Order: sequence, then C-alpha cells, then structure tokens
Amino acid sequence: MAKVSIPTVTLNNGGKLPVLGYGTWLGFDEKLDPRIFDVPKLIETLSYAIDIGYRHIDTAHFYRVEPEVGQVVNEKIKLGIVKRDELFITTKVWQNYHREADVEVSVRASLKRLNLDYLDQVLIHWPVSVSENGVDEKIDYLETWRGFESVLAKGLTKSIGVSNFNVDQLRRLLANCKVIPATNQIEVNLNLGQNELVEYCQSHNIVVVAYSPFGTMVPGQGPPDSPEPKLNNPTLVAIAKKYGKTVTQITLRYLRGLVSIPKTVTKARVLENATIFDFIIDDDDVKTLAQFNNGYRTVTSNFYQDYENYPFEKPSGEKQQLPSSFLKWKNGVNGDIE
Ligand code: NDP
Repeated sequence: MAKVSIPTVTLNNGGKLPVLGYGTWLGFDEKLDPRIFDVPKLIETLSYAIDIGYRHIDTAHFYRVEPEVGQVVNEKIKLGIVKRDELFITTKVWQNYHREADVEVSVRASLKRLNLDYLDQVLIHWPVSVSENGVDEKIDYLETWRGFESVLAKGLTKSIGVSNFNVDQLRRLLANCKVIPATNQIEVNLNLGQNELVEYCQSHNIVVVAYSPFGTMVPGQGPPDSPEPKLNNPTLVAIAKKYGKTVTQITLRYLRGLVSIPKTVTKARVLENATIFDFIIDDDDVKTLAQFNNGYRTVTSNFYQDYENYPFEKPSGEKQQLPSSFLKWKNGVNGDIE
C-alpha cells in the first residue's frame, strides 16, 4: 500500500499539527442539507487516509459525522494501525453553544459522539452566536472563549483555536484572553489569499489552517459564474505539466506552507492530495499563481451578514435565508445526544 509522509508544524502550545489534514464536511445537497448519504464513502476514504499516513482529521459537531469519524479512528487504534497520540483530531463548537457553560456541554457531547477521551483541538466554528431557532444571540465571543479556556484547563482538549475570525476579532480576543488561540481556520485558496489576515496570524504565532483549499475550482463548489481558475485553466495546466503534478496538487502546494484540510470521498484523491511534499514551486510560478487572488469567497455564509460579529465584508447579491440545517438538528439520528 502507498504511504505518505506529511510534515508537521509546531503550535504555540508545543503541539504538532500535520500540515495536511483530512476534511470531513460532506457539503450540501441541493436543499442545503448536509450530504449525509455520502457517509459510507467517508468511512471508506477516511479509513484509507489513516492507513496511508494521514494523522490530522478535521471535523465538527455541525458536520453530523462525529460518530462515524470516531468509529473509524477507534477501529484503527484497536487494530494497532495508529496510536491515539499519533493522531490530531479537531472538532468545532457550533454557534448555538456559545454561552460559557455551554461550551463544555458541546465538547463533552463531541467526545461522546467520537467515543474519545480527549480532543487535540476544539475551535469556535464561527464568531457569530445563533440560537437553535435562528435568533442572533449576540453572545460575545470573549465569553465563549472563557468556556474554551475552561475545557482546556480541564484536559478535555489539548489545544483551542478559532475559525472564521477576522483581524479585528483576533486583535480583541488577544487583548482579552489568557490563552492565545493555537490556530485560526479560515478559507484560503487561489482566489482568496487572505494576505493581511494570514500575516496577522503568523506574526502572533497563530497557525493558519486553510479550509476549502480548492475554492470554486472543482465541479460542484460555488456558482457557475465563479471566477477562474477551474481545473482546466490553461495557466494552471501548464504549471502542473512542468512539475509532473496535477492542478489540484499545485493548488495545495501553493498555499505558502499553510496547513490545509482538503475533503475528498474519492480514494485516489486521498493519495493525490497528500503527494505534494516532493517538489517546490519556483518563484516565477508563485508570482503567476498569486495573480488569481481576487478576494472571491467560496464560503460567505451570507445569511449571517446582519448578525453581530459577522466576520466578512458584506457580500453583494441577494441575502439567502438561514438554511434549516443550520438550526437545531434531530438528536439521535447520527448518534447525537441531548
Ligand atoms: P475543498 O476545497 O476541500 O473541496 C472539496 C471538493 O473537492 C469535493 O467536491 C471533492 O470531491 C473535490 N476534490 C478533492 N480533492 C480533489 C482532487 N484531487 N481533484 C479533484 N477534485 C477534488 O472544500 P471543503 O469546503 O470541503 O473544505 C475542506 C474542509 O475544510 C472541509 O471538509 C471541512 O473539514 C473544512 N471546512 C471548514 C469550514 C469552517 O467554517 N471552519 C468551512 C468549510 C470547510 P470528492 O469528495 O467527490 O472527491
């Protein structure tokens, strides 16, 4: 069986995070419900990913797949394929658990669903706080962060971080926290370089984890009128050919050493996405690739745009209604608990 060797980056608490992880968000179907029907494929590909050497897994309460992620992980540990302390498992607290005391409830429930004793990292999924009924609760993320510091102190997780925080929100958090976030998980791809935010994080010893690393390049991600580059973009195809790599491998390798967490439920792509550490893109090609950076977001969550702490510039275009899948979901269906 093929094996991959994925380098690590050291977090500000000394933890080691593999720079390429396995993303477990299955995406939305046409009704904006999570593509839970892909769970059998996820089980198969995550299992393969661990077999070939992936050690970093990114999940979230919102993704509805914690029980299956836990099932695969525990099986691999039982079979002796990997030890728990060789894995780095991240989950996220959803926006309706932002009260200080609720953070622990959420983290304990994630641990139960994952059937694990501890997490390697827990993130505030979004800085906005929204009730199960879609109401903007306006809970200060500083309060939520106190809950995070508490679960860290209790040993429920080895590190804590944030996601979708902008520079102003990080600046305020850093001025008012005891524990500096270890990571900020944000969208970064060819269209969205996020240079200012990345530089801010790096200058404060916060590791950037790039989600949606392919942006709208791959079919099914984003609207049809989303900007170039797509998989068949001639510039990208030529660069890929030069290095004997695929366009997606060039895209991941280009991410300036940031951690990335591509998602795939296709076995061959699990291997492809991790086979990127054996070449370096030269300066001229880096400059060419940088020209695709036009600030276009794949993930706008535009339905939050009027909520307090919405982290992005107000998107243009029609505001979507908050999808029902963002509200309370049915406990029990996926091993969720009260
Ligand atoms: P990605 O950029 O990872 O794109 C996923 C898509 O790319 C899927 O359609 C997949 O298809 C396809 N794909 C994967 N590898 C290849 C390849 N080598 N060649 C061609 N197509 C490929 O987007 P995501 O939005 O899923 O982001 C990745 C992860 O980031 C998520 O799974 C989640 O863990 C995290 N995330 C976090 C967010 C946050 O708010 N913190 C928001 C969004 C994502 P297929 O599966 O069919 O192979």
